[in-house]
Amino acid sequence: MMDEAPKGKFQKFSDKSPCYDLDSPIQYLKGVGPKRAYYFKKLGVETIKDLLFLIPRRYLDRKNLSPIRALKVGEEGTFIGKILATGIQKTLHRGEVVKIVVGDGTGIINCSWFSRPDLKYRFRVNQEIVLSGPVSYYKGKALVNPYYEILEGGEEYCGEIIPIYPLTENLSLWDVRRAMRQALQISLPLLSETLPKRILANYSFPTIIESLTAIHFPETIEEAEKARERLVYEEFFYFESLLALNKREKKGDAPILLNKKDLTERFLSSLPFSLTASQVQVIKEIEEDLAKGKSMTRLLQGDVGSGKTVVGIYAMVLACENNTQACLMAPTEILAEQHFLNWQKRLEDIGIKSALLTGSVKKREKEKIYKLLKDGRIDIIFGTHALIEEDCQFKNLSLVIVDEQHRFGVMQRAKLLTKGSSPHFLVMTATPIPRTLSLTLYGDLDISTLKEKPPGRKKIITRLTTEENRFKVYEFIRNKLKEGKQVYILCPLIEESEKLDLASAKKTYEEVKEVFSPFKVALLHGRMKSEERIKEMEEFRKGAIQILVTTTVIEVGVDVPNATIILIEHPERFGLAQLHQLRGRVGRGEELSYCILIAPKDMSDEARARLSYFEKYEDGFLLAEKDLEIRGPGQFFGVRQHGLPDFKIGDPSKEKEILFKAREDAFAIIEDDPNLEKEENRVIKENLQKRFFGREDLIKII
Ligand code: ADP
Ligand code: MG
Repeated sequence: MMDEAPKGKFQKFSDKSPCYDLDSPIQYLKGVGPKRAYYFKKLGVETIKDLLFLIPRRYLDRKNLSPIRALKVGEEGTFIGKILATGIQKTLHRGEVVKIVVGDGTGIINCSWFSRPDLKYRFRVNQEIVLSGPVSYYKGKALVNPYYEILEGGEEYCGEIIPIYPLTENLSLWDVRRAMRQALQISLPLLSETLPKRILANYSFPTIIESLTAIHFPETIEEAEKARERLVYEEFFYFESLLALNKREKKGDAPILLNKKDLTERFLSSLPFSLTASQVQVIKEIEEDLAKGKSMTRLLQGDVGSGKTVVGIYAMVLACENNTQACLMAPTEILAEQHFLNWQKRLEDIGIKSALLTGSVKKREKEKIYKLLKDGRIDIIFGTHALIEEDCQFKNLSLVIVDEQHRFGVMQRAKLLTKGSSPHFLVMTATPIPRTLSLTLYGDLDISTLKEKPPGRKKIITRLTTEENRFKVYEFIRNKLKEGKQVYILCPLIEESEKLDLASAKKTYEEVKEVFSPFKVALLHGRMKSEERIKEMEEFRKGAIQILVTTTVIEVGVDVPNATIILIEHPERFGLAQLHQLRGRVGRGEELSYCILIAPKDMSDEARARLSYFEKYEDGFLLAEKDLEIRGPGQFFGVRQHGLPDFKIGDPSKEKEILFKAREDAFAIIEDDPNLEKEENRVIKENLQKRFFGREDLIKII
C-alpha cells in the first residue's frame, strides 16, 4: 500500500531521486562521503533508513531559550549567541585550552574546552552557536566544556525549533541536517505506511511520512512530540506483537505431569514449616500448567526471602512423581552448591536421587554424573551453566527451573530448553522485576508472584553511616555475636586495588579476625576452590564460623537464617537492586536483622541520595523501579547481552503509558487474528517480517 503524495509542507521533499532506496549507504549522499560515513557509523547509521530513524534527543525552542543576562551561576543554562572572539590559551599543566567569547546582545560569556585539540580550528567569529551546560564563574560568567552546536550552514540553517541529535565528535548538527534532508527527499516517496489505519485513527497519530518529517524538521515542539510518540508506539507495538505471537507458538506439546499425591505429599510433610498462602496459590498455578500437556512457561517472582526455592523444588518432586527428570540451573556455583546441600537429604529420604553439576566438579565425577543422568538414575540435578554443555544429556527431562533468571542470557535459557523434547519451564527471580520490564522482556511468560513472606519475618533495620563510626559499629556487632548471631561482612573486591582504594575482602578479613577475636572468621570469595567454599559455607551454616567476610558471590540466594547482620563496605559502589539482594541475605529468620552501610564521607550527591533511599525503603519492587529509573533498562539487566532488541527510540522505563497501550493493542490483535490473515492486519505481518528478518533465533526463544 503506497501512501498518497505528501501534501503541503511535505512537498518540498517529494522529488524522487531514482538511484537510491532505503537501504542505500549514506556515503553516497551529497556532502557525506567515506569520512563522514565513518562517523555516522559510530552512531549506528549506515543506510538511509538508519539515518531517518536517528531521532533527536531533544529540541530547543529559540523562543524559550534564556538570554545570557538571565543565566544564573550554578545552574544549567542553554542559550544561543554569536561568537565574538576565539583563541587558544597555553597552560602549564593542562595543555591547550580552546576559548571563545559569545554574546547575544544582553551579555557575554566565556567558554573554554580543555583537552579538545579537535576544536582548535572549529570556531569562527560571527558564527551562531547553541551552548548548554552548568554556568560557572571565572572572571565573569563562564562555561567549561559545554555542549555546543554551531548553527550556521547555508540552506540547513535551523528554524525556530532546533533538534539536538546524539552526535559524535567530527559530526556537526549541520552534517546531520544536510544528510537528513536528502535522505527524506529520497525516501518519502518510497515509504508506505507501517501501522494499521485504525490504530492511526484511534490515537490521531500522524502518518509515517508526516512523522519522519516532523521529527527532523518540526515547526512546533508539539508536532515533534506527537511524531515521536507515534514512532515509540510503533516500536513497542511490533515488539509486543512478536511476544504475543511467541506466547501462542511456544506452547508445544509437553509431558502431562499430574499430582499423584505420593512423593509430593511426603515432601510437604517432611518440611519443617507449612507453606504460606502465596506459596500454595503459586503451586496451584504451576500444577494446572503441568497437567495441561502444553509446555509451561512461567516466571515466578517474589521478593528476596519470600520462599521461592521450596516452590521450585516441589515442582521438581512432582516431575519425579511422574517418573521424569528435572533440573535446576543457578547462576553461581555457590548457589547451586547450596541448593544441593539444602535439599539432597530431604529428597533422598523420599526416594529421590539428586546430584550437583558445576564447572568445578572433577572430570571423572562429571562423566559419572553424565552417565547416571542419561540412564535416568539421577532424578533431579542441581547445577550451573555446566548443565547446558553438550555432554549433559537426560533420559527424560520434563521440567527445567532457572533460579535467579535475570543472571542468564536468553540464549542459555534456550539451550536448556533443547535438552528435553519440550520440557516445562519455570524461571524464578529474586530481583523483583518492575512491571514495565517484565512486560517488555517477559511479555510472553505467565507470571506468578509470591506476595507475602513466610510468617514472623521482622523488618530489616538499615543504617547508613560513615568511617568515623566504624568503632561503634564493631561494638554493636560484637554484642550481637555474644548473643549467638552471625554476621556477613561484604567487600566490593577480592584483591587490594590501589587505584580504586576499595576495602578488599582479604585485608578486611585479616583486620576483622583480629578485632573480633576469639570469634571465628572465614573468608569466602569466587576465586576459591569449590570444595573450600562448600566447606566454609557449611561451617558458617552450622554456626562453627560466626563471621563471613565475603564479596558479591553471596549476592543471590544464599540462605543462613541465623545470620542477622550484614555490614556492607563501600555501598556506594552498588546499585539499588544489588544492595537489595545483598540485604536479603539477612532477615531470613524470625529475629530482627540489621543491614549496616559504611560509606566514605566524600561520596557523590547522587550516591548519597541513592543510599538514603535504600535506607528508607525495604520494598524490593519500589527499589527496582527506582533503580531502573536511575540506571535505565539497558544496564539493569544487561538487556543488550541478552540479545533482545534494543529499543532505538522508546524507553520502556520512561514511556510506560505508550508501552501499555501498545501491548494491549498487540495482544488483542493477535488474540483475534492469530496468524495475521485478515486484510486489515496485512501491514502488521509485513512489518513484523521486515523488522525481525534474520532474527529467527529471537522469534523462537524469547
Ligand atoms: P528466595 O525467595 O529468596 O529464594 P528462599 O527460598 O531462599 O527465598 O527462602 C528463604 C527462607 O525462608 C529459607 O530459609 C526457607 O527455608 C524459608 N521458608 C520458605 N518458605 C517458608 C515458609 N512457608 N515458612 C517458613 N519459612 C519458609
Ligand atoms: Mg532464591
